[in-house]
Amino acid sequence: MAQFRLRALEEVLNREPVDVKREDNLVSNYYGTLVFDEAKMKKYLSKLAFNAVMEAIEKGTSVDRKMADQVAQGMKSWAMDNGATHYTHWFQPLTDSTAEKHDAFVEHGEKGNVIEAFSGKLLAQQEPDASSFPSGGIRQTFEARGYTAWDPTSPAFISETTLTIPTVFISYTGEALDYKTPLLRAIRTVDEAATAVCHYFDKNVASVQSNLGWEQEYFLIDEALYMARPDLMLTGRTLMGHASSKDQQLDDHYFSSIPTRVNRFMQDMENEAYKLGIPIKTRHNEVAPNQFEVAPIFEEANLANDHNQLVMDIMQKIARRHKFRVLFHEKPFAGINGSGKHNNWSLSTNTGVNLFSPGKNPKSNLLFLTFVINTLKAVYDHQDLLRAGIYNAANQHRLGANEAPPSIISAFLGTEVSKMLDLMEEAVVDRKMTPDEKTALKLNIGRIPEIILDNTDRNRTSPFAFTGNRFEFRAVGSSGNCASALIVLNTVVANQLVIFKKEVDALIEKGTKKDEAIFQVLKELIIASKPIRFNGDNYSDDWVKEAEKRGLSNIKNVPEALSAYLRPESKSLFEKMGVLDESELHGRVEVEYEKFIMKIQIEARVLGDLAINHIVPTAIQYQTTLLKNVKNIKEVFSAEEFEQLASARLDLIREIGMHVSAIKAKRKEMIEARKKANVIEDTVEKAEAYDITVRPFLDDIRYHIDKLELIVDNELWPLPKYRELLFVR
Ligand code: ADP
Ligand code: MG
Repeated sequence: MAQFRLRALEEVLNREPVDVKREDNLVSNYYGTLVFDEAKMKKYLSKLAFNAVMEAIEKGTSVDRKMADQVAQGMKSWAMDNGATHYTHWFQPLTDSTAEKHDAFVEHGEKGNVIEAFSGKLLAQQEPDASSFPSGGIRQTFEARGYTAWDPTSPAFISETTLTIPTVFISYTGEALDYKTPLLRAIRTVDEAATAVCHYFDKNVASVQSNLGWEQEYFLIDEALYMARPDLMLTGRTLMGHASSKDQQLDDHYFSSIPTRVNRFMQDMENEAYKLGIPIKTRHNEVAPNQFEVAPIFEEANLANDHNQLVMDIMQKIARRHKFRVLFHEKPFAGINGSGKHNNWSLSTNTGVNLFSPGKNPKSNLLFLTFVINTLKAVYDHQDLLRAGIYNAANQHRLGANEAPPSIISAFLGTEVSKMLDLMEEAVVDRKMTPDEKTALKLNIGRIPEIILDNTDRNRTSPFAFTGNRFEFRAVGSSGNCASALIVLNTVVANQLVIFKKEVDALIEKGTKKDEAIFQVLKELIIASKPIRFNGDNYSDDWVKEAEKRGLSNIKNVPEALSAYLRPESKSLFEKMGVLDESELHGRVEVEYEKFIMKIQIEARVLGDLAINHIVPTAIQYQTTLLKNVKNIKEVFSAEEFEQLASARLDLIREIGMHVSAIKAKRKEMIEARKKANVIEDTVEKAEAYDITVRPFLDDIRYHIDKLELIVDNELWPLPKYRELLFVR
């Protein structure tokens, strides 16, 4: 058998599950040991410094330099007590991963010696030489300076021997160059808008927090097999590979018993996560073979997102210990399920009320409905922006394939809430409501069951589903930063809440009573947002037709999906809500287009190389064997017998020849298409060219390779096949 593939398979067959040493049998005994959390701050900081940090966390105030110095001292002492020698500002540039640059605590002392030092200045701000991070043209290289600045709302932690400080990443001129900065701004803007609306119901609400509970899907592939697949290594997905005769048809992987090697990996990863204060709760097998999921208990959105980034990083490191590689790509294998990252999102008040949970009485239910209905309207109005926030070269393969919601954004509410909206629409009349009418409506509103979590018919096909006490944004892809989706979601909901408040206030000013004003505006929102509500099967063809009738957009390519960001109304929306100004928005969209171009370009190159260096030689080798065989037959047998014995082989020889020629020709055309696209100056046009003229070759060439895989001698085939990648564990 082809050497590399054979060796990889042999290696896998000899694998044993790796032993895992858990820190303690009780997670509560070691949870958060590596986090500079409240308890440790209390111990290591003066009261003044402690209060300054707590105020920064709760109210978003800044910590002054003197206090920062004290915090830095405390942090350093704690970190050194726990084995740290270095510190780093940890940030989330617009790539798909996190960034860090480590510095030792050492400084020169006064007598030529070295001492351990860490100051408030170094804690608060740093200037990494960050000129190579994408900025979309915000930073010119001659002014490449970018700053990282401490985010006190996400606690510092120790990773290996490094004190790691979560930070934002901004340009010299103050523009956001990362995911965290606009996420924090979006969280703030929805806090303000939601708090103002809450005041109609409860004056004691001082703040509203956005929450995120992510569910991370991923594949685990044995390291040896992974290394034998250059396409997986370089692009994160298989660019070729014929479907395995059996994959997920029998649904026998989903929720089935977790393979031991995988289970050990999960335990190991959870152990690390618990030390870092990440509340991992769930693990299970997913639908596709070798696909799994991990999910924590939800947390405040900024922290939860940091934790997601951290977990993705830990997973990759721990996987190596277990001789696995993690695939976060949205569609590593054609024809079977891809991976998503459901973003469970909710808003809750500082008084402990989840705004997406029905309450005990008409008033709290009206609060609940207010938030649900405004969210619906925001999703309806800004469906294109929500899509832009989740669309990229990888997720494009997943959305609309049979396992994921299509590119049409719609919202699922379930029967209970849908019924309630219909009822409100009918019961709220256009004239002043009589006291009886109002009482009847309130009584009805009071009837929403307090716990609808268990009786919401869970529609698994909806891209944006209400699931009893939260919305679940399911269209989000597995590889990206959740912030991209959450920035849009929080911003559009905040914007809608501001509009709602204005309208209600205007009615109140004209003399309408508060509750009736709320009813009236909600009724209008229910009517206006109706097209976005869909409780049926989002995967069906009928829905595509129906959605079109409703005027919902269905954009299936990255360049067009991203262009929603560039509309004048999008720019003014982000600007008005204080989340991204025009140049920041422009910069990050530029980065997204560039990422798209690069990804397609890399895939095209890798496929071209593999086709010519791996596949074509193999096919020719097998064809040569067949040719020799035919020649031999001809020597031995009569012409008549030859015809009979060799005709099938001759067909095969022709077939191989045909596929090889097609691969070679298409590769040449693909290179030409790239050359043409590469000289286009405008990034958007270039992305379009890559999408329309280069991308289709990936499928075209693959088609011929996959056909060859079916006919070429298995012993010769150089790359691990789907059945090996997916079923060996
Ligand atoms: P599934 O969708 O697979 O049934 P779970 O019920 O296990 O998932 O929950 C998925 C995620 O939703 C978890 O991270 C959970 O903590 C989170 N979650 C639950 N309630 C809320 C909420 N009110 N706001 C945000 N996330 C929540
Ligand atoms: Mg879910």
